[in-house]
Amino acid sequence: MTDGTLLYQGKAKSAYLTDDPDALVLAFRDDTSAFDGEIIEQLAHKGAINNQFNAYIMTLLQDAGIETHFIRRLSSTESLVKRLEMIPVECVVRNRAAGSLVKRLGIEPGLHFTEPLFELFLKNDALHDPMVTEHHVRAFGWATPAELDTMMKLSLRTNTILTQRFSEIGLDLIDFKLEFGRFQGRIVLGDEFSPDGCRLWDQATGEKMDKDRFRQKLGGVIEAYADVARRLGIVIES
Ligand code: ADP
Ligand code: UDP
Repeated sequence: MTDGTLLYQGKAKSAYLTDDPDALVLAFRDDTSAFDGEIIEQLAHKGAINNQFNAYIMTLLQDAGIETHFIRRLSSTESLVKRLEMIPVECVVRNRAAGSLVKRLGIEPGLHFTEPLFELFLKNDALHDPMVTEHHVRAFGWATPAELDTMMKLSLRTNTILTQRFSEIGLDLIDFKLEFGRFQGRIVLGDEFSPDGCRLWDQATGEKMDKDRFRQKLGGVIEAYADVARRLGIVIES
């Protein structure tokens, strides 16, 4: 399937070309980074958990009518995906205050909003992913107004679907990040959805079940990811 050529190596995944110019193999590694790559550690089994977690979520979204890049899982750590022309902005949806929003606005962690918040960040580690507005995205030509509108609608629709699914397993979806790309003229959800790119708080205990365990050195990172996967009914293959 993969022709072995590494297209790019990100902080947590590697992308390989395949014999199909429209498809890539994404290999999920155990590398775990925080603070835009300042801290990198290996967490055993993370690649396998995130690949299988992502396969589950992408399938759920696809079944709900959101086009994703996911084609199929190839192995415990690898998936075949549509090769997208990535849009260099991160779409963040927030339901409650956490992370950079708390620092930026000086508000209480956990604050509820009257409606979900949609934010945009430029994907640039060297600049620490600065926040940008819809006008920046349009004025710099990163996406057209129609593409941006689609990205926002798909992000908010994803929020509705996943807030409901995580609530069924006793978790609050606090916030998450999505990346989109172009495929044959359409806006398609790419990259990954896993506990690396979202915040999940246990509704009963308030415990953090996501990458904040790594960022805040709370320990039990992989145990938390595995517990969320188990609650979703995902049987992790190693
Ligand atoms: P980072 O870029 O933050 O270091 P990763 O290690 O997850 O993150 O790298 C994966 C890279 O692959 C990212 O740059 C992401 O935008 C890109 N990517 C994800 N899905 C696709 C896709 N379907 N087609 C092309 N590129 C993709
Ligand atoms: N996020 C991500 N990659 C990034 C930045 C943020 O996956 O490069 C996710 C993060 O895990 C959280 C959400 O996006 O679920 C909002 O992140 P925030 O802006 O609060 O930044 P952080 O404080 O996590 O860096």
